[in-house]
Amino acid sequence: MLPFRLVYHEEYDLNLGDHVFPSKKFKWLHDRLIRTRFAAPEDFVTPPPASSEDLLLAHDAEWVVKIKSGVLSYQDILRLEIPYSRQMAQAFCLACGGTLLAAQLAIESGVGFNIGGGFHHAFADHGEGFCALNDIAVAIRRVQRDGAIRRAMVVDCDVHHGNGTAAIFAGDFSVFTLSIHQFNNYPSEKPPSSLDIHLEDGVGDSEYIHRLENGYRAALAMFHPELLVYVAGADPYYEDQLGGLSLTFDGLMERDRMVLSEALHRRIPVAIVLAGGYARSAEDTITIHANTAAVARDLLQKSPW
Ligand SMILES: [Zn+2]
Repeated sequence: MLPFRLVYHEEYDLNLGDHVFPSKKFKWLHDRLIRTRFAAPEDFVTPPPASSEDLLLAHDAEWVVKIKSGVLSYQDILRLEIPYSRQMAQAFCLACGGTLLAAQLAIESGVGFNIGGGFHHAFADHGEGFCALNDIAVAIRRVQRDGAIRRAMVVDCDVHHGNGTAAIFAGDFSVFTLSIHQFNNYPSEKPPSSLDIHLEDGVGDSEYIHRLENGYRAALAMFHPELLVYVAGADPYYEDQLGGLSLTFDGLMERDRMVLSEALHRRIPVAIVLAGGYARSAEDTITIHANTAAVARDLLQKSPW
């Protein structure tokens, strides 16, 4: 049995059909982890959807009503860049419930891994860039409200800036947001995170790890989080269709190892979420996410929580 639980729901699929966002990747990753015997069925736990009350901890009431009722404006749909459906709305509520469960499991046992989530472009009052509800913000606000933790840090390593997360937590000094991303990429407007690491086009493994390690260590030295949410985007990969960085499989694994080990050595629990991944071959995206799970397993086996 794995030293941590994998959080998954078969309705995570956003049902987008032939879209650049491979929303079947959640199921594909689940299936890969079973097929390779990395995980057994008992390693998985199924989350309930986040309640409206939980969503309201990070979102405006008007936006929650729009998502629940499906009464979105043309502008809302344009910004989301994905079609609205009941299944899509349910999938986002499940992603929020999944990241919350991963955070709760992390607080108990060191790591919680959501095979979904990372919808960092969702703002309090609207969605953007394939993200309708911000599971990261909902989960953090809920465990804070429960009194399980006070201070949280988001380490967002998706190739795109974590604009929604940065905006939601702006002025909230209980949450430190770190985003490392390709500067010349979506979103064009980047509301400031607590720490933004802007990378030039084409940055590869060594510069990426070096810049991330410096910023991350400095952040940990001044802000002592009781929970870390690791947004383990697969899109800094050199074969990504929406990314312009040049990380390899090995570089991405080194990134995972650095982020996770720095936190776990300090006894900071880590909730891991997937975020983006648009490799020309979807198999590569799945490999990158599966590798993140393998790195987490190896670290926890070496030094149990
Ligand atoms: Zn991305």
